[in-house]
Formats: sequence, structure tokens, C-alpha cells
Amino acid sequence: MRVLVTGGAGYIGSVVTAALLDGGHEVTVLDDLSTGHEDAVPEGATFVQARLQDSAPVLADVRPEAVLHFAAKSLVGESQQSPELYWENNVGGSLALLEAMRAADCRRIVFSSTAATYGEPDEVPIPETAPTRPTNTYGASKLAVDAMLTSYAAAHAFAAVSLRYFNVGGAAYGRGERHATETHLIPIALQVAAGTREALTVYGQDYPTPDGTCIRDYVHVADLAAAHLLALPAPAAGEHRVYNLGSGTGFSVQEMVNAVRTVTGHPLPVVVGDRRPGDPARLVASSARIHADLGWTPVHTELTEIVADAWSFMKDLPAPHHSRARGGTLQEGLS
Ligand code: UDP
Repeated sequence: MRVLVTGGAGYIGSVVTAALLDGGHEVTVLDDLSTGHEDAVPEGATFVQARLQDSAPVLADVRPEAVLHFAAKSLVGESQQSPELYWENNVGGSLALLEAMRAADCRRIVFSSTAATYGEPDEVPIPETAPTRPTNTYGASKLAVDAMLTSYAAAHAFAAVSLRYFNVGGAAYGRGERHATETHLIPIALQVAAGTREALTVYGQDYPTPDGTCIRDYVHVADLAAAHLLALPAPAAGEHRVYNLGSGTGFSVQEMVNAVRTVTGHPLPVVVGDRRPGDPARLVASSARIHADLGWTPVHTELTEIVADAWSFMKDLPAPHHSRARGGTLQEGLS
């Protein structure tokens, strides 16, 4: 298939681009490089630097049969401080993209949604039928795009899939996670192990969980990429599907700390801090729907495997700002 990947210079977008190329697809990457890096774009993909708001001429030129839409702002804290960035980029940008698609008669889309659309869950594992009550602007902006896709499917015959990611980690195709501003647990812990940060602050040890730290569902980016390839052809015109992507198993922050110690051999000093506002105690996905519909089963489910793959990507990177020539084995990543 001829596809356009927005945000293909980022962490997940670049891994999925590599997987698409591997699967024989023809890929154009559109990315404004606000957080991604051109050298993350896999060799074999065409790269266009543009904002979503300026994507119409690109769609008109490329004439893709489908779009995989990763480009977004994705920092929860920033979304609370500067919500306008999230409404403009995530919602305004997505609307511009959908209109550009319509103009180019491209009506198939896979969208990167998030577990943050659910907010504090009533029950875990969380099914797709759970109430959506996002507790931050990031989640609200992604939920707004999910709603857009439902109405574009109904009114304009779009074939759409929203994939709601839980906690993505690991590395694949020589690509991993590396942001200028790092907020996520695994890369922060690995920065401590790599010696570029002094200690990991554990946000709260008084949660109602067995060891008092928050529980999350970590899914390997390679499994996530496989789900995108399955989802791409799945919906019919007029259909908007929503699928959770998680491993279905919860691990605590403390278990993650233990895994990082095991994998890196580093003592990983830890400081117990306050709870981070808006962090639910326990977020675990039910991925039963995508398993039943598309046969997706995550295979890299061991915490130590996710950490080991992230570590082997990260430990060789030159600090502080790592950059390798395009086509090299180590690449930059975004969200
Ligand atoms: N966390 C932590 N210290 C950090 C970063 C994260 O204790 O420096 C915790 C955070 O409170 C949450 C879990 O690790 O319980 C995963 O956080 P992350 O930001 O990686 O993903 P999120 O679940 O917020 O999407």
C-alpha cells in the first residue's frame, strides 16, 4: 500500500515506518521535526518536513491510499500548562489532516490514541467500552480526534482505527525512545543507569497497590508496530474501530526499578517523592478486542525484555544530544 506516516521522525512513528517498509509498503513520512529527528526516518521512506496544517499539498502530491497518524504533542504536564498547544496541534492539526485526506480522496486512517482518554478507571483491565473521562488536556485532545474519526467515518465513508496505547517501551529496528524533555519512567531510569541523571524519583509510594507504587501496562514497541500493520487494512468504509494496545499485565514502578537494576547491573538510586498529580493508581488494558478481531497477541511481554531492548539502544548513544547519520543503526525518537 502507498501510505503517509505523520510523525514518522518520532519514536513510535519511526519504528512503525520501518515495519511498514519491511512489509513491502511504500512510505512517505510527514513530520515538522518539532520533537522528532530526520535521522530517525528509515532509509527507503520519502521524507517531507511540514506541519499537519500544511499537509494538503503533500497529500495531493503523494496520493496515499492510507494515513498512519502519529504526529502529536504528548506531554501531560505541558498539556496542563499550555493547553492551546494541544488543541492547536493535536485537534486543529488532525482536522487539517482529515480535510487534506478528503480532498485527496484518501479515506483510510490509523490514529495513535491513548489510554489517557479513559482517565481514572472504574475497573481494570480497562475495556474499550469503559467511560472516557480524561483527566488532562492531552487525553482530552486525543479523545476529540477519536470523536472526529467516528463522525468522518459516518459522514464521509472513512475507514478508521484508533489505537489506544498504554505504556510503550523498548526499541526495534534500531530505533528507540529519546526526547529532549524526558518524562517517562523507562528512559528516565535508564538515564540514571547511564550516569546522565543522579537518581530516579518514584512518584508516590502510598498508592493502594501491593508495594504502594503505581501499576502500569507496558507494551513493547515491536508488538505495537505489529498491531498497526494488522489494523491498517481492517476497517471497512464507514467504520471506526477502537482498540486498546497493552500487554494485559500490570507492573509497578518498584518492579520496573528492579527490572532496570537487573538488566543494567546499576544500583539505581531511588528517591521517593510526592504523587504526580493526575496519576491513577492502576492502568491495565484489556486488549481482548484486538485479539479477537485481528488476532493480535503481544509476544515481548517480559519487563526485562522491554528494558533490555531500550537499554541496548540507549547505552551506546553519545550524550547529551545523540544524532547519527540517516541510515545508521542508531536513531532519534520522539513521543
Ligand atoms: N514515574 C515515576 N518517576 C518518574 C517517571 C514516572 O515514578 O520519573 C511513574 C509515574 O508516576 C507512573 C509510571 O511511572 O506511575 C509511568 O509513568 P510514565 O510517565 O512513564 O507513563 P504514564 O503512565 O504517565 O503514561
